[in-house]
Amino acid sequence: MSSANAPLVTRDLAHVWHPCTQMKDHERLPPIPIRRGSGAWLEDYAGRRYLDAVSSWWVNLFGHANPRINAAVRAQLEQLEQVILAGFTHEPVIALSEELVALAPTGLSRCFYADNGSSAVEVAVKMSFHYWRNVGRPGKRRFITLSNSYHGETLGALAVGDVELYKEIYRPLLMDVITVPSPDCYQRAAGVSWAGHSRAQFAHMESALERHAHEAAAVIVEPLVQCAGGMRMYDPVYLSLLRAACDRHAVHLIADEIAVGFGRTGTFFACEQAGIRPDFMCLSKGLTGGYLPLSTVMTTEPIYAAFYDEYVKLNAFLHSHSFTGNPLACAAARASLAIFREDGTLERNHALAAHLGARARELEDHPHVAEVRQRGMIVAIEMVRDKASRAPYPWAERRGLAVYAHALERGVLLRPVGDVVYFMPPYVVTPEEIDLMVDVAREGLELATCA
Ligand SMILES: *Cc1c(COP(=O)(O)O)cnc(C)c1O
Repeated sequence: MSSANAPLVTRDLAHVWHPCTQMKDHERLPPIPIRRGSGAWLEDYAGRRYLDAVSSWWVNLFGHANPRINAAVRAQLEQLEQVILAGFTHEPVIALSEELVALAPTGLSRCFYADNGSSAVEVAVKMSFHYWRNVGRPGKRRFITLSNSYHGETLGALAVGDVELYKEIYRPLLMDVITVPSPDCYQRAAGVSWAGHSRAQFAHMESALERHAHEAAAVIVEPLVQCAGGMRMYDPVYLSLLRAACDRHAVHLIADEIAVGFGRTGTFFACEQAGIRPDFMCLSKGLTGGYLPLSTVMTTEPIYAAFYDEYVKLNAFLHSHSFTGNPLACAAARASLAIFREDGTLERNHALAAHLGARARELEDHPHVAEVRQRGMIVAIEMVRDKASRAPYPWAERRGLAVYAHALERGVLLRPVGDVVYFMPPYVVTPEEIDLMVDVAREGLELATCA
């Protein structure tokens, strides 16, 4: 470790308990103190730079210290940093809501704010349950979810997700959900198309809805990409079928676009690729350009109306978080949306995504790569022990961690999910930076799979 980082590392390890981390790992790989960021790059206290190929956990869209977002936050800071959103309001939250409603699938006209993704999922789950109660169907109280899905870490969000590693220990604390096999196209048989596989997998969902619609409040999905589940992808046809089936069975559809929203999959929202409108859409992460914690649940007029009544009926949605709709976060979000409009970001991303995909697919022939898959600005490389059978490496070998460690040495922040090496860069990344991240991933793969 470089000497300028060392004092901070020592102080950090004395008191900071890091997220999603076995802290003992830091004996070998100490946390890296970051002094500043600029564009797609982070810089530590020793002056070493790291290309942020994972957008700082999938949040950053337009680079670190983006001048336009900085200016918007700075201007807001001089006006109002925070105000209670119950009984009071402010222009940034009003304008942001107007802009989101204009961008979202038609009919999502109401925005309920929280301050992180998991809380948005909690809101959607509670609202769906509560809606059915308000309209006289209190028996509809269960949730249908996909295998390998991820919706956050708070207890309700954890319950409706399905990543064993995060969930198993807490199972005694979690509500019981109905889990349906995912349309994940990595699992498709040879010769079957993505659409064919996703369509066939829908049979499981259809039968779950037939069996459980009377007791089901909602189906919750991550549209098109199960990110935390290893960037597993599926075809939009699944969402079209799901929308129609949810309507037929009177079950809500919750689209968790927390990771895939804001252009990640090539369209502004992933749902657009299926031409559907969910009943609830959860947004966070890229919502503020990755600047500040903020989330929102967008929903429809009929759902809003089911809560709109005399106070004494006691059917209002009495949920809140202290920092709900924070003005600084809303100002960052509006500045980020302005960049999309002014710079034609989705258009520009098409060229970047094409380059990223083409470079990453050069790894398809590698003897320990089972698949290279892409949806827009998300590209994933599935590293396996045996290419033919797709047998994975034993998880305890932590091959992905070896890729991570190598990439850091080479000045690139890659953070594989298990053995899935992926790229989810900020949209300000250049073709040359894409080349660097793919080259370094290749080296990391070679090293991680040679023994
Ligand atoms: C990150 C994520 C969440 C949780 O958001 P947090 O802000 O980390 O609580 C929920 N759903 C999806 C799909 C995510 O990727």
